[in-house]
Amino acid sequence: MLQFKLVLLGDSSVGKSSIVHRFVKDSFDEFRESTIGAAFLSQTIKLEKQDDVTIKFEIWDTAGQERYKSLAPMYYRNANAALIVYDITQPDSLAKAQSWVDELKNKVGDQDLVICLVGNKLDLCEEDPQKRVVDTEDAQRYASEQGLLFQEVSAKTGAGVTDIFQTIGEKLYVQK
Ligand code: GDP
Repeated sequence: MLQFKLVLLGDSSVGKSSIVHRFVKDSFDEFRESTIGAAFLSQTIKLEKQDDVTIKFEIWDTAGQERYKSLAPMYYRNANAALIVYDITQPDSLAKAQSWVDELKNKVGDQDLVICLVGNKLDLCEEDPQKRVVDTEDAQRYASEQGLLFQEVSAKTGAGVTDIFQTIGEKLYVQK
């Protein structure tokens, strides 16, 4: 079994913990308390595109990094993948995600990281299209310019969440 370390980054309240919770427990809890300190979770998946390849993700949810605007070395050290999360319904949310991308790239140098830009809260936009403030095309364009994977998701409904991990797992497997 292959094991990879994956870290989460993005501003407070964009739904990082909810995405992890959806992926690991397949549930959503509107009133779950926010993460204090580093939370470790792991989840194993079978790659859909490969026969018999199992990947274990060791997931590091943020230890309140968003408040310090600076990454602790233990957080990104030996990381293989990162999710940079923004909230599709929040102005400035993508710009903030972009500064996390810069910060991460800066810190890890040429360490080979698979980064996925994740737009969360898709359910709110489907309910009411007026709530969307970040266009899919803008985020997609930025992601391809930066060489990032890209996915819009809803931690609430689960839409797109397993796709993130399948795509990252596939890329990590191929480049390993
Ligand atoms: P974090 O601070 O980035 O870890 O964000 P949380 O996971 O704690 O979520 C922040 C708030 O957004 C909570 O009230 C969640 O219930 C809510 N939330 C998270 N993901 C979604 C989603 O996909 N859809 C909706 N409607 N709300 C969400």
